[in-house]
Amino acid sequence: LSAVEQDVIDEIDEKGIDFLRLQFTDILGTVKNVSVPATQAEKAFTEGIYFDGSSIDGFVRIQESDMRLKPDPETFSVLPWRTREGEDGGAARLICDVINTSTGEPFEGDPRGILKDALDRAAEMGYEVNAAPEPEFFLFEEDEDGRATTKTNDAGGYFDLAPKDLASDVRRDIIYGLEDMGFEIEASHHEVAEGQHEINFEYDDALTTADNVGTFRTVVRAIAAQHDLHATFMPKPIPRINGSGMHTHISLFTEDGENAFHDDDDEFDLSEEAKQFTAGILEHAEALAAVTNPTVNSYKRLVPGYEAPVYVAWSDRNRSALIRKPAARVPAASRIEARFPDPSCNPYLAFAVLIHAGLDGIEQGLECDDPVRENIYEFDEAKREEYGITTLPSNLGEAIDALEEDELVKEALGDHVAEKFVEAKTAEYDDYRVDVSDWELDRYLEKF
Ligand code: GLU
Ligand code: MG
Ligand code: MG
Repeated sequence: LSAVEQDVIDEIDEKGIDFLRLQFTDILGTVKNVSVPATQAEKAFTEGIYFDGSSIDGFVRIQESDMRLKPDPETFSVLPWRTREGEDGGAARLICDVINTSTGEPFEGDPRGILKDALDRAAEMGYEVNAAPEPEFFLFEEDEDGRATTKTNDAGGYFDLAPKDLASDVRRDIIYGLEDMGFEIEASHHEVAEGQHEINFEYDDALTTADNVGTFRTVVRAIAAQHDLHATFMPKPIPRINGSGMHTHISLFTEDGENAFHDDDDEFDLSEEAKQFTAGILEHAEALAAVTNPTVNSYKRLVPGYEAPVYVAWSDRNRSALIRKPAARVPAASRIEARFPDPSCNPYLAFAVLIHAGLDGIEQGLECDDPVRENIYEFDEAKREEYGITTLPSNLGEAIDALEEDELVKEALGDHVAEKFVEAKTAEYDDYRVDVSDWELDRYLEKF
């Protein structure tokens, strides 16, 4: 066992951990658990734990279903709501890599492995990737049967304080829960919409951050449920008010710890690499959207007027652009903010495709247009054309089409995931297309 693995085993003994939840995510981003007795920890580290992958979404065909979970000891974390000091029966989680039993190689359908590949490419180019997401979510009341409604439990607005912000107690408990899981919370606030919240946690390397997004969603939902509230990361639960994004801040650092995105001499403090990286993302935006905004509902958020981006451009100030350059107080903080991802995405796949597109921009030396400083929501088509600004796909179907035509993004996902992802998302979109919505009934039933 390595030193870190031994530390984990010691901690399991000390803290009375009896169960280990081995976690991984499927292609759609759902966190899956296999629970094993903590006595299996050593075996899990040395051999891995076998499981049947055929029932996991998009994983494998039945005849090649044997998978092995290899826990990453760095991700060990005691589950605070399952563990009491000095008592037995505690539980902890370990996030795992998925290994294909027949080849002994990382399984090509494991999203975590796909992000690792993207980070390997960055490392070959001499970079480490940092990422920080800003997941937004809504808190809704539950009905008598404990089912989620879309009724908010407060009437707060952006940065409002108590007594209007009744949810601040819940948010505080969520923050404690996250801190218990080792999160470094930077800020939390009530978002623009009623019932909408944002909690920001500290940036980390992109792999840790992707792991953290999965944990974050689980903790937020679990603690909201303790307050009889339903937390949702659905991108647009209520029409005609702001939806929930997961803005993703990215920067590249060199091996000697310098921020490769910073340049003192540049008007925007951005290096050439940062601009090329940005250009790479803009170049592939339509196809990236299929991964960063992967649900039918995602495209209800990406409409003008609700602080969500629609237009393929970057800006150093306004929020209608796909990528924004946030103000940075110190050189280490120079970064770009991709504003289009939403929290229904699989964070591993979303970060992987963003990173590949950005690195490709650097490799190709792509040029970035000037930032757009006006409010693009107010541009008409002629003006957008004059500025060379295109738009994001307007629905999941268009996004899938764009993905199918984009070799770079498909390659970033790998054949297996690209194929399964397109298959699953096409089915999802087709199912939506044949449905008849309440809007249609309201509008047409009596009219025709
Ligand atoms: N809720 C907005 C969105 O859909 C973002 C608001 C903000 O700038 O934080 O992305
Ligand atoms: Mg926000
Ligand atoms: Mg933001």
